[in-house]
Amino acid sequence: GMLSPIDLRESVRGAMTIMHRAYQNAGITCQQHFHGEPLIVLGDMVRLEQVIVNVLSNAMQAMENQDQKTLNIDAWREHDRVIIEFHDSGPGIIASNLSRIFEPFFTTKSEERGLGLGLSISYQIIESMRGELSARNHPDGGAIFRIQLPAAKTNKQR
Ligand code: ADP
Ligand code: MG
Repeated sequence: GMLSPIDLRESVRGAMTIMHRAYQNAGITCQQHFHGEPLIVLGDMVRLEQVIVNVLSNAMQAMENQDQKTLNIDAWREHDRVIIEFHDSGPGIIASNLSRIFEPFFTTKSEERGLGLGLSISYQIIESMRGELSARNHPDGGAIFRIQLPAAKTNKQR
């Protein structure tokens, strides 16, 4: 699709519109911190929302059996990049799987629950927007998914 300026907050809102009922039913607390000026990225709105829905849906499944269910969303700008991180309170990703989760058909879920395509498709989508999708574990627990995208130039910078 076409790359155009997108307010990151809007794409999170769009993804949350799709996920909020499931999040409510699951009892997940979601906190969002958007730091600084409006965070405008260059991307494809529909496909970016699709990636965020994938990440939110994985986080929800990861937290299923946890006592504490929280998702922290943090977004900020770094030079000509915008970064958004999703930190869940799930069990995190087994270290030996960290390098494999973006492979097509890699899944740790049962056949009915996961095909293992969500992250590989998401990875390609973010790559097509000249961004990066990565994952790591937080030292205090939970998984962090990070999306990095080019910041759209504002009128001032043009
Ligand atoms: P699927 O959800 O169908 O299994 P994905 O490509 O979305 O496929 O994810 C691949 C695998 O990555 C999952 O099966 C799971 O093992 C791991 N994973 C993804 N998100 C998380 C998360 N938030 N916490 C822990 N593991 C995760
Ligand atoms: Mg998935």
